[in-house]
Amino acid sequence: MIEKIKRVLEHENKFLVTTHVDPDGDAIGSMFGMYFFLKAIGKTVRVYLKDSVPYRYAFLPGPEKIEKDLKNLGQEVILVLDCGDIKRIGDEYNLLTEDRFIVNIDHHETNGMFGKINHVLKDASSTAEILYDIFMQFGAPITYEIALNIYTGIFTDTGSFRFPNTTEKCFRVCGEMLHFGVSPSYVAQMVYENHPRERFLLLSEVLRTLEVSEGGDVGIVLLTSEMFKKVNANYEHSDGFVEYIKEIKGIKVAILIRELENGKCKVSMRSKDNVNVGRICGKFGGGGHKNAAGCILEGKPEEVREKVKKVLSEEL
Ligand code: 5GP
Ligand code: MN
Repeated sequence: MIEKIKRVLEHENKFLVTTHVDPDGDAIGSMFGMYFFLKAIGKTVRVYLKDSVPYRYAFLPGPEKIEKDLKNLGQEVILVLDCGDIKRIGDEYNLLTEDRFIVNIDHHETNGMFGKINHVLKDASSTAEILYDIFMQFGAPITYEIALNIYTGIFTDTGSFRFPNTTEKCFRVCGEMLHFGVSPSYVAQMVYENHPRERFLLLSEVLRTLEVSEGGDVGIVLLTSEMFKKVNANYEHSDGFVEYIKEIKGIKVAILIRELENGKCKVSMRSKDNVNVGRICGKFGGGGHKNAAGCILEGKPEEVREKVKKVLSEEL
């Protein structure tokens, strides 16, 4: 598979790189890492991202121009990175019709295999780690820009080397990135110690809604539209709130339910050890990984909480 990808990257000249909406550090790191790699081997590269780069990843070096629509697509090879479901690149996914050459590189357990080439490694910590192996096939130099993006992808998708997807290889690849100038403390500061105060005002509202159920196994918090308004915060400020709930002793499943504009809610789930939230979110039409997954459900936050609790009480 990796040989096939190598051939495409070598023989084709024009590429468009993209990832999922609501992008995390692995999505952004993979996309920008691939951008700089392709530039380094002399290719023409476009980058498409429906959402903006979240403030916590704004320090990552990336292309000057990020395109926000797919309408003027040429004959580019489409590289979809870290995206388990083609619909998650945004509502213009339908412009990527059958005749498009899509290369799908990912590590989500629930990947839809929507590409002409599907390089999906469930056991990889991150898409950035998979890209590292691809880049190594070329003998091209790893630049600081590539290294910083790869490091950040692995670092964030392993929850700073805390989640069960953390392997020896993560440390080895990240260690190697230090040779190219990456500073772990700089990355940690940018990602974790660089928040606007609105985030904490919002967090104080959210924590008040904590409900622990299933005999202490499940912790759920809600984030309503009113809370966003009250503290003048936006969706981005709530990134990672679900991780705090996972820190509660004994919690097996942590859930954050965020109200969206359209009468729906975004549900984020995190689990410890053997509880598979990817499968649970799959039942609701979403997906993800065993220990980190999401889905979108109709209803107000309280209603969504009841729907989710019902399924969890059957599953746990
Ligand atoms: P988060 O809760 O941080 O948005 O997402 C956790 C993980 O689940 C990420 O790997 C993300 O890509 C995946 N994920 C989140 N929401 C969805 C969804 O609606 N559908 C699918 N297929 N995956 C999702
Ligand atoms: Mn990822």
